Amino acid sequence: MKTGYCCLYGKANAGKSTILNSILGLKIEATSPKPQTTRYNVQGIYNDEDSQIVFIDTPGLHSPHGLLGQILIQEAESAKIGVDVLIYVVDATVPLVNEKLALEVGKTKSPVVVAFNKIDLVPLADGLKRLNEYKRLLPNAEFVQMSALTHFGGQDLIKAVKKHLPEGEAFYPKDQLIDRPMQFVWSEMIREKCLNNLNQEVPHSIQVEITHTETSKVTKNFVIYADIIVEKASEKSIVIGKKGQMLSRIRHHAEHTIGNFMKQKVELELYVKVVSDWRDNPSKLKEYGYKE
Ligand code: GDP
Ligand code: MG
Repeated sequence: MKTGYCCLYGKANAGKSTILNSILGLKIEATSPKPQTTRYNVQGIYNDEDSQIVFIDTPGLHSPHGLLGQILIQEAESAKIGVDVLIYVVDATVPLVNEKLALEVGKTKSPVVVAFNKIDLVPLADGLKRLNEYKRLLPNAEFVQMSALTHFGGQDLIKAVKKHLPEGEAFYPKDQLIDRPMQFVWSEMIREKCLNNLNQEVPHSIQVEITHTETSKVTKNFVIYADIIVEKASEKSIVIGKKGQMLSRIRHHAEHTIGNFMKQKVELELYVKVVSDWRDNPSKLKEYGYKE
């Protein structure tokens, strides 16, 4: 069978995590219109009759903010090295003003597949013009037009990737979708609801840590306890909201998504905590699983 690793690489907000979710047919990763939604290199595992492809989703390339920002850039850069295929995800709606990143991608040793994404949002003529600009910059790359949000083009992407994969044994059991513990998936789902419900500044300072789980003695439901960590007391009151309304909305949305994912009724117990400037604190970053 064809097996190998490929890396989803590109600017923040291009749609890398949406592509991964669409290919896996499941939502395991936080996506949002806010840049820097993805925090870790996540591996999603695609299986079919004759292949196993490990997709590494990287934090978007974005100007670094503090120590966490620097770690995110390093993570994305390190994921690029040694993969069988580099998938360069391009947002078709954004004019090509700076050619640097595309030219950089062209210099990598791995074969490049360009996922020209969000074509549902651009008029055909503009899209083709932009596509041709990228083709000129990356003459050796293969191009796939996609609309990950509407699940268009995923199979074309798989086909393009497969061409470059070696024959080999599967790396993971066939039923495994992600190389992370379940707690990671839950915390990402809670963090996504925070990102989607809060505006602007607060979301980037949020870290979600699952503390423990239990079966409720009363309702018999599965209960997940999680801390929502922010950097300032003012952020804590925003997350909680007037009369706890914001936190309650985040909880309802997350209970729904996690419940669907787990195929059972799930209750969440969320606590908002302040850890001052954790994004610049090396020991906290380590505790939360960010590699330096
Ligand atoms: P990432 O930072 O590259 O991982 O980007 P995300 O996957 O988080 O996507 C960023 C935003 O673009 C989200 O709001 C997605 O819903 C949206 N998005 C991603 N792909 C598409 C697409 O093909 N079409 C449209 N209309 N929106 C998309
Ligand atoms: Mg992402």
